[in-house]
This record gives sequence, C-alpha cells and structure tokens, in this order.
Amino acid sequence: MLRNEKLKSLKKSLNNLTEEVVLEMLDEMLQREEFNDVCKDEDCLLDMASYALNRLPAKYVATSKGEVFSKTEELEQQHSVDVLSVVTRAIKVVSENKHHNT
Ligand SMILES: [Zn+2]
Repeated sequence: MLRNEKLKSLKKSLNNLTEEVVLEMLDEMLQREEFNDVCKDEDCLLDMASYALNRLPAKYVATSKGEVFSKTEELEQQHSVDVLSVVTRAIKVVSENKHHNT
C-alpha cells in the first residue's frame, strides 16, 4: 500500500492552475445581473466548473512551486478570453439543464 499512499501524495501535490482561474472567473461571472436567476448550488457550480475545465487546457504545477506561479499574468492573459467564453457557455448550458428542482 506504500505505493498507493505515495501516489496519493503525488496527486495531492499536483495543482491545475486552470482550476483556480476557472473557479475565480465563474465566481466573478455569477455575480453579474444577467445571471441572477441561475442556480448557484454546489451541484450546479461543480457542473459548470467541470464543463469549462473539460474544454480548457490544463496547466499543472507542483504545489510547492504553484504558489509562485499561480498569479503569473502570463497565464491569465493567455487564456482569459478562452476562459471567459467557455465559462459563459458553461453557465448557460448548466442553467438550462434542469437536472434538479430548485
Ligand atoms: Zn442547481
């Protein structure tokens, strides 16, 4: 089981910066008036994030170095347009998908 524990530890140290960018963008977008009526429970937020993350390139760094790189403007600028359009689409697709009663 050492092998599994080691792999689990390695997995924890892998950090996808795109996740941070998408979650921040999602949070920001959902505060807009046009999305007032959109369900913002955890299920829907996770669906939106998953939708967006499946359509954007991952940007992995090891956690120890991640702190240094996480705020690099390069990443934000390079993907900001893509992230904006994909997150907007994610909100619309998920909010139109009546998977639960609100
Ligand atoms: Zn919901």
